[in-house]
Amino acid sequence: MLASTFRIRTGHMRIVFFGPNGSGKGTQATLLKSELKVPHISTGDLLRAAVKAGTPLGLRAKVIMEAGKLVSDEMVLGILEERLALPDVVGGFILDGYPRNLVQCAALEELLARLRQPLDIAIKLDVPDAAILARCEQRFALEHRPDDDPAIVRKRLDVYREQTAPVAEHFAQIGKLATVDGVGEVNTVFKRILAVLPRSPA
Ligand code: AMP
Repeated sequence: MLASTFRIRTGHMRIVFFGPNGSGKGTQATLLKSELKVPHISTGDLLRAAVKAGTPLGLRAKVIMEAGKLVSDEMVLGILEERLALPDVVGGFILDGYPRNLVQCAALEELLARLRQPLDIAIKLDVPDAAILARCEQRFALEHRPDDDPAIVRKRLDVYREQTAPVAEHFAQIGKLATVDGVGEVNTVFKRILAVLPRSPA
């Protein structure tokens, strides 16, 4: 059948979107949100909002986040569960920053099975370490963001490789992983992402 008789399912898509810090994930997730008309849920943003609001969880998370460590699986799952219970998620979501390890991956699958909201696809943005380091170094020179400090970027890449890369393996094994080349212009990368999205008959 012709490709044109299939279209991307706007307003109906459950996506896990991952890639290392500095891979352009945030930019692409924002574009995807406008295209698909489903909320972009970032666990980093949810935690930062809790910190800002000074909730008990936020107060606990603040110290851990400032140390550049990962917040406990339990705390993040709690905050994610609350967010996925809101009505705007009924048509889908783009989940960014979760799952970050295999424990979180199992917890997510259990949660989505309970909510009867199976995942459609996991998209991994692939950017070589050298390109990430170069991007962050450039930004660090201009903006002085502490998390762009080359030593911290290297550390985060290690954590990503050790803990998050196995999550990609898992999605590959269940046939739900799409790996997208994240090197190139923003719009070029975005087109590659659109090309891997599941389609329905028009
Ligand atoms: P991000 O904006 O995704 O880089 O997240 C910022 C910080 O929030 C991380 O460095 C962690 O401390 C915390 N965080 C966000 N998502 C998670 C997660 N899934 N598991 C544990 N900690 C997380």
